[in-house]
Amino acid sequence: MRWEGRRKREGAALKKNKPAVFSPRIRGVIFDLDGTIVEAAYDWSRIRADLGTSGLPILSYLDSLEEPERSRKWRLLREYEDEATRKARLKKGTREFLHFLTRRGLKKALVTNNSRRNVRFLVRKFRLEFDHVLSRESGLWKPSGAPFKEVMRKLGLKKGECAVVGDSLFDLQAAEEAGIEWVFLISQDRDKFPPSRAEVVPSLPALQRRFEMLLGGLSQVTCFWNDP
Ligand SMILES: [Mg+2]
Repeated sequence: MRWEGRRKREGAALKKNKPAVFSPRIRGVIFDLDGTIVEAAYDWSRIRADLGTSGLPILSYLDSLEEPERSRKWRLLREYEDEATRKARLKKGTREFLHFLTRRGLKKALVTNNSRRNVRFLVRKFRLEFDHVLSRESGLWKPSGAPFKEVMRKLGLKKGECAVVGDSLFDLQAAEEAGIEWVFLISQDRDKFPPSRAEVVPSLPALQRRFEMLLGGLSQVTCFWNDP
């Protein structure tokens, strides 16, 4: 497993047959928005069908279109997004987890393929605070790792110091492309994702408990990575 090298370096204090351990140094957490910290009712299958994306990522597809189809379909996407944003609810445990990270001195960022307007609306409505927010107007979209790399650059974080919290395959793919190993996917269904080093966690309160263990001042923490 990936921590094998570190375990060897720290090996003097470890005994055989004990759980594999390491000391994480997470200094920043990059969150996804929709489905991760807010519940938003998107019917992505219907939206893709209405837009006719032919299996392409929605933003890449829209960006490839010529006028007037381009404007018409962007407008259709915005209508879906605006409606979902108006009805969105903050997920249980979001505010508590963000406060916890702040108390522990970690940076918090938000990276979303949603629009700046909708992100602003939700961040203000739910009184959330982030050190950096990146929306799709940046031109950097998941599943590319580029938006995560940009956040790390802005916040002065190395990839080994970051964790990603998301709810979709795009979040996982973007984290992998950016070289971020700490990935937490909020889902009740761990079979929704392909095998990876990401940890599937059922809720934000459960993730906070996981972070309390990781950051709890313990010199050694049990490794819970899923075996690939
Ligand atoms: Mg999401």
